[in-house]
Amino acid sequence: MKIRTGRNYINGAWMTHERTFASVDPSTGRTLGTVALSREPEVDAAVTAAREAFRSWATTDVGERCRLVAAIASSLVSEYGEQLKESPLKNLITSEVGKRLPEADIEVIESSDMVSFFAVKAPDILGTRSLQLNADLWPTKRSRVVFEPIGVVAVIKPWNYPLELPLWSIAPALVAGNTVVFKPSEHSPLIGLEIARLCEQAGIPKGVVNVVTGDGETGRLLAQHPGVNKVSFTGSVGVGRRIGEDCGRRFLPHSLELGGNDAAIVLADVDVELAANGLVWGAFCNIGQVCVRPKRVLLHRSLREKLVDLIRAKTDEMRVDIDYGPMISERQRSTTASFVADAVSRGANLVAGGGAIDKEGFYYAPTVLTDVPPDAEVMREECFGPVMPVMFFDSESDAVALANASEYGLAASIWTTSTVTFERIAPQLNVGMVWMNDVNVAFPEAPWGGRKMSGIGAELSEFAILDYTRMKHVCVEASTEQRRAWWYPY
Ligand code: NAD
Repeated sequence: MKIRTGRNYINGAWMTHERTFASVDPSTGRTLGTVALSREPEVDAAVTAAREAFRSWATTDVGERCRLVAAIASSLVSEYGEQLKESPLKNLITSEVGKRLPEADIEVIESSDMVSFFAVKAPDILGTRSLQLNADLWPTKRSRVVFEPIGVVAVIKPWNYPLELPLWSIAPALVAGNTVVFKPSEHSPLIGLEIARLCEQAGIPKGVVNVVTGDGETGRLLAQHPGVNKVSFTGSVGVGRRIGEDCGRRFLPHSLELGGNDAAIVLADVDVELAANGLVWGAFCNIGQVCVRPKRVLLHRSLREKLVDLIRAKTDEMRVDIDYGPMISERQRSTTASFVADAVSRGANLVAGGGAIDKEGFYYAPTVLTDVPPDAEVMREECFGPVMPVMFFDSESDAVALANASEYGLAASIWTTSTVTFERIAPQLNVGMVWMNDVNVAFPEAPWGGRKMSGIGAELSEFAILDYTRMKHVCVEASTEQRRAWWYPY
């Protein structure tokens, strides 16, 4: 197989650099390509290019910005081709991060839908808003709010949705008039560089989007660069906290989309076939490497036999390399194994899976544990791997208390045949997103974001577009009087 070479995209040019690192195919552990290991000079060149380009991009008509961003969405539709049919972009996603073809399908088509939403909605959302002041108090004042771009946005993202998550930030940043420096994950740099190619192809002017590949140190250099005006970060709580502290010191706007330990509450009236299908897919799609997967399944005790048996059967039926692929790295696989070992050592029952698959690459079997004690690591910390821990509850209030007993507050799902029950429980959950009888679904129209340790700020929706702007209040005086009534002398 030919090893690919990825080059940084800075100021509209593809740059070769001396320091490089390998992007690895997780299904074999072998090198897929080499890319730049960017340090100060490359990060600095990218930020400088973005600052320079900001001057004209910020004043480009919003309609023209949206036309160019819409061209990225159109390219994605072409790159998608047909459902369940391979394409070069989908093949790169399956080989660089190990997704299955249906998962790569979703990633490409959802990316197009999200980018298109921002391009269509931005002109309305960013329009100037006139304010109705109290005419009795302020008869001669005319006020309005305008939304201005912030400047250079540093976009730093993980590998688990390597195309979609960066575009969730890049598209609203661009339509709002900002320029971007994007640092993809060290596990998905080649897919990150595809975003540069799509922007170039769409005719986005040079310097408006720059992509520098690298590791955590590259991300740190970018987030701390004095030329950056906002940081949009998705990733782990530890790194998010460091970025938040640094941005706080500099009063820099930032959004942090971090980890979760989502509860799935399964009520006694549930359709068990639906719940088993949904929970098995939710827990194991992308081999469990999903921020909003059900990471703690809370089952009503009456479902113990019936639903656990069904979940076990459906998990045992999962086929390696068809229904699930490799994990991203040996490190993620061994961390997952240690979560399972800890739970079993504390008395959990291993119902399905529970070990690495005996083949090359970083494979781990989808694993189901029951009767997991609340002090097990898998109940307290985020397990970013294919493990479904199940606990049982007796009353609805117990289920809500268990669900909320977490430092995280990303999302939750409620499985029931009753919308009344769903509507009663949903407001009691301290999370940013709640789904009924579904899990891990994102819509461009709906805000996406967590509470507590799961982060701050929101991605997607009209609110995200405004998050990439600074509001300015502009106040016009209509009178020609030489003195206002409240000025001196009193
Ligand atoms: P990570 O925090 O290790 O890395 C994320 C990105 O940050 C990478 O590009 C990395 O190179 C960079 N980085 C690392 N150290 C840095 C530093 N000091 N300064 C700046 N950048 C730095 O996360 P990961 O392992 O790649 O991703 C998995 C995590 O992401 C999980 O916790 C998952 O839940 C979370 N996630 C959250 C969401 C969400 O929407 N809330 C979505 C996807 C993933």
